[in-house]
Amino acid sequence: MSENKKIALVTGASRGIGAAIAETLACDGYDIWLNYRSDHEAAQRVAEKVTACGRQCLLLPFDVADEEAVEGALSELLAEETPYILINNAGFARDGIMALMSRYDWQSVLNVHLDGFFLVTKLVVARMLRKRAGRIVNIVSTSGQTGVAGQVNYSAAKAGLIGATRSLAAEVAKRKILVNAVAPGFIETEMTADLPVDKILPTIPLARFGQAQEVADAVSFLCSDKATYITGQILAVNGGIV
Ligand code: NAP
Repeated sequence: MSENKKIALVTGASRGIGAAIAETLACDGYDIWLNYRSDHEAAQRVAEKVTACGRQCLLLPFDVADEEAVEGALSELLAEETPYILINNAGFARDGIMALMSRYDWQSVLNVHLDGFFLVTKLVVARMLRKRAGRIVNIVSTSGQTGVAGQVNYSAAKAGLIGATRSLAAEVAKRKILVNAVAPGFIETEMTADLPVDKILPTIPLARFGQAQEVADAVSFLCSDKATYITGQILAVNGGIV
């Protein structure tokens, strides 16, 4: 593996989809810069799995939506090394019907998905441009592709991220940086733990929730040498729901 292919930065990787992505990319041969916000013990458990794959893991706790925190955590590191891979995965939902949605629930969801993408990617892509190499994968959602009642804030954020994926892909293609998105449907994680499974299953052609590993495998493919002519695309991992 060439020198500039060594590191993958994964945001929101202390559990769920991000943890599966970090572990999978480690087994693909990348050292991991593992971001999360607050759950140190969970992040430590992921780090142990990364090291079990023979790779190094650097824990980077910061809020992706906090500009000072992002710059504080990444600026010095990026002066020394440039990740070949960036996975923008950190996120959460604050569901509720529009008529009752607080300004806080609207803004915090846009902040984590859109500001978080902007703040982290701006720093990393500047380094990738100099290296003329890189892969960026944004984790979006079925909710950003179709409408979902009760998720006006989350759908707006994920649809925005889909637009940003396509525009950034066009902007950096000449420097050999490929930018794509993966759009999961219903995946078994803490985020979906309280959903009414019985009502949802009949809407999924494959009749089951997906596993975080199935999303991680799609990300691994998009970051691999098997995906050198794919950019600006949204790859759905949703059991056929869209
Ligand atoms: P999850 O199990 O709730 O994990 C979320 C992760 O993001 C945690 O590691 C959490 O860290 C981190 N995080 C949250 N806010 C953060 C912030 N401001 N800064 C840094 N890290 C932050 O969620 P998940 O289900 O794996 O979802 C991961 C991504 O997939 C999200 O973008 C989500 O929108 C998307 N997605 C999920 C599904 C699904 O069905 N699960 C479907 C479509 C899309 P801490 O615990 O340390 O705060």
